[in-house]
Amino acid sequence: MGRLLLSPRGPVKVQAPAPAQRGLFRYPGRVWSPQEYEAAMSRALRYAHECSRTGDVPVGAVVLDEDGQVIGRGWNRREELNDPTAHAEILALRSAGVARGNWNLQGCTLVVTLEPCTMCAGAIVHSRVDRLVFGAWDPKAGACGSLRDVVRDSRLNHQVEVIAGVLEDQASIQLKGFFAQRRMSDSSGFFTPGAKWTRGS
Ligand SMILES: [Zn+2]
Repeated sequence: MGRLLLSPRGPVKVQAPAPAQRGLFRYPGRVWSPQEYEAAMSRALRYAHECSRTGDVPVGAVVLDEDGQVIGRGWNRREELNDPTAHAEILALRSAGVARGNWNLQGCTLVVTLEPCTMCAGAIVHSRVDRLVFGAWDPKAGACGSLRDVVRDSRLNHQVEVIAGVLEDQASIQLKGFFAQRRMSDSSGFFTPGAKWTRGS
């Protein structure tokens, strides 16, 4: 089932398979159910909540190994660390690499609450993960089917299976709540301790 999105380069048809439609997916030696994707996404959503302490846009991620064990985790810490690369996906991939003692994450699945940006999509390809699962689409900056599709670009030396829209409503509500609160803070001039609102995030 595809859907059309408008981008500066014209309409792009992307695949947006719902977990229920995908049904079971077989890992080597193991079967995964849609409920397991949702359980992993629930964990990512909880990590995204950590961003409320620092004023970062709430995005959370986990990396699962072949057995479904969480071996990496991260949440957006760009504001906290003053690091333009400290997106949830990058930090989760880094922690998974440390846990494995290997940068090559073949066989792993990255689960993230928001469609990855171009930088993170590049890191996902470099990490060699088998699969990307994400919650909400990001029509303005997403690089896994919205603006472009880096992770399934056949010209690159690695392609990643994409399962989109897992717990999409919860992921969208979390992000919309953040931006609504930020708009209220901006208009009232109310200062939230620990929050460093910036434009363009
Ligand atoms: Zn990113």
